[in-house]
Amino acid sequence: MRDFLGRLAMKYQAFMMGRYGQDKLSLHMCWLSLLICFVSMFVWRIPLLLIYSLLLLLALFRTFSRNIPKRQKEGLAYERFLGKIKGFSALQKNKWRDRKTHRYFKCTCGAVLRVPKGKGFIIIHCPKCKNDLTKKT
Ligand SMILES: [Zn+2]
Repeated sequence: MRDFLGRLAMKYQAFMMGRYGQDKLSLHMCWLSLLICFVSMFVWRIPLLLIYSLLLLLALFRTFSRNIPKRQKEGLAYERFLGKIKGFSALQKNKWRDRKTHRYFKCTCGAVLRVPKGKGFIIIHCPKCKNDLTKKT
């Protein structure tokens, strides 16, 4: 039995040689498809089952794909997307935490500036682009 499992593992390794394998995007697609499968038990059975199947097939295609540079590019784009979501949620969390003591402003360059609240009109100097903003805090 142990020898059989060892041979099976070696065959799987040989099969996966030169293939992309599992990454975060494929894993999240699998989890999302499972969630959709669960939801489809209660509502919109057929459309959700189609979406579920499509997501799962796409995740399998990505896992077994031999076009590694393209899969890596997709994976990086997904990581960047996740980073934006995490950054946005962290900013919202900080805004909520500091809602009584600080105000947040967005500069024209995109930088988010945190200033103390209740100081009247102040000139805010952006450390990123060296631009000055006049805002009421
Ligand atoms: Zn700026």
